[in-house]
Amino acid sequence: MPEKLQGMGAIPGIAIGTIMKAGQALDGYLAAYQPGTVDEELEKLNEAVAEVADALENSVEQMRKAGHDEQANIMEAHMFLAQDPMLTDGMTDKIQEMGNAPAAVLSSAAESAKIFQAMDDEYLRERAADVLDVSKRIACKILGIKEPAIGDDMVVLCGYEVEPSVIAGVPDDKIAGVIMGQGSTTCHSVIIAKSRAIPTIVGIEHRTDELADGTRVILDGNKGLIIVEPDADVLKEYEAKLAQQRAAEARYAALRDLPAVTTDGVEVQLAANIGSPSDAENAAKYGNRGVGLFRSEFVFMGREDIPSEEMQFESYKKAVLACNGELCVIRTMDIGGDKPLPYLNIPHEDNPFLGYRAIRISLNRRDLFMPQLKAILRAGVYGRAAIMAPMVVSVDEILRLRAFVREAMQELEDDGKEYSTSVQLGIMVETPAAAVMTPIFAKYVDFFSIGTNDLVQYTLSVDRVNPNVGYLYNHFHPAVLQLIQRTIKSANDHSIWSGMCGEMASDPYAAVILMAMGIHELSMSAPSIPRVKEMLRSVTFEEAKEHLAKVMEMETGEQVLKYLHKALAH
Ligand code: PEP
Ligand code: MG
Repeated sequence: MPEKLQGMGAIPGIAIGTIMKAGQALDGYLAAYQPGTVDEELEKLNEAVAEVADALENSVEQMRKAGHDEQANIMEAHMFLAQDPMLTDGMTDKIQEMGNAPAAVLSSAAESAKIFQAMDDEYLRERAADVLDVSKRIACKILGIKEPAIGDDMVVLCGYEVEPSVIAGVPDDKIAGVIMGQGSTTCHSVIIAKSRAIPTIVGIEHRTDELADGTRVILDGNKGLIIVEPDADVLKEYEAKLAQQRAAEARYAALRDLPAVTTDGVEVQLAANIGSPSDAENAAKYGNRGVGLFRSEFVFMGREDIPSEEMQFESYKKAVLACNGELCVIRTMDIGGDKPLPYLNIPHEDNPFLGYRAIRISLNRRDLFMPQLKAILRAGVYGRAAIMAPMVVSVDEILRLRAFVREAMQELEDDGKEYSTSVQLGIMVETPAAAVMTPIFAKYVDFFSIGTNDLVQYTLSVDRVNPNVGYLYNHFHPAVLQLIQRTIKSANDHSIWSGMCGEMASDPYAAVILMAMGIHELSMSAPSIPRVKEMLRSVTFEEAKEHLAKVMEMETGEQVLKYLHKALAH
């Protein structure tokens, strides 16, 4: 049996290739390095900076030609950074002090990176990785370390950290996948790999050491699985999967600009779920129409204090602009439950999913809530924005939310800041109480978005992160379907729109019956959009209604699942 390593799938897809080690430590090279005089070391620095800048300029050109604009932009920023006196002056000073060019370059970079890491602004904090990446390239040049030669095989880059420039430097027809020991799915390396849809697995820690140069591997980015030296049978199985993946990609690319419309003309808007403004930019290649869920809590996470109104405004504005005139639904902070936030100092709770979370915190913490609402209202000036509240259970919460929004507008007015008066106000329907109350709630809001991740959890009393009860978690359970149908009907009865932003929205089989129930919008992680679109474009509204009628008579979720998979098999 081939050996398997389990990590986290950061970017889905199958890859087959040969390991090429990247992101290696330079300690050995540094120890062997013989420095010259200070003047000689300074000369080496200048030469290396010029060569690195030239190489980066070349790759920016190639990437632009290949249509990889996002990647080209990052590399262009690296090119400017390599020549930025802020960086090179620091290196020059350090050479005077240490007399060793590569060691001075790395030491000066570590100091600059530390300054960036301590910054308030998320964008600037991320620059730390760029400084380290560029500096390492300069140090490698001085140390005479050649960039690894790429042979005929497709490569899988592997290292504890693989720098963005290393990924960017391997052309499309040579890179199969990326494996990283570190566990972040939002670092620049992952962003670059995502913009090129390169299957990527992270979080295998130092087990990257077990994967030597030249090892043949299969990556299953959907499962986070790495198969080492696969035997002929496994290889055959995955080659078939890879061929299917390529065929699907070609079909999906052709669907990008087409609407998600049934053959008899009923359209559903397919939007993207995002956690950062750059996700909104990336979503475009999957043909999203707007954003149905911006999980704004990610703007609050990974920091040491509450992000300022200004910082939030910049994030939301970027997302709104990326929606190109389509709606951008920004959910107010959903902290608590499975998303803790250390700086809020929420005391330990025995039942965090039933505890102090989401809108319950926001309504109680003016200092948190007002800057967020103001930032969204201001971002609305740049396109179409909506405010959406999570975890609502009562009319009282909606009325208090509305009062907060009025107050936020008044304060912006008083401060003479520009804001939008047409920002929609909606709620997530993710508790059974909310679903039951939708005929009443519909009087007070502009839209509902059904959050099935929590709705299933609360309706079936199944902890969504407890694998021991995972077998009970089924969005087709009749109780869940009835609550969803009720919500969509309430919205239609009151002429407001309804959508869904829980994982169920990305299930193509579910999409068919949701469309038949009269839902307006389905929002999901962008790569799921083409599959759902393909399914909706293959059915008629009439036949979807027939399936819905049958499904609503069924007694178990398993029956529904089985029926839909059989009835909608193509
Ligand atoms: C949901 O509950 O369905 C949802 C979309 O929100 P989250 O997964 O962030 O709780
Ligand atoms: Mg939720």
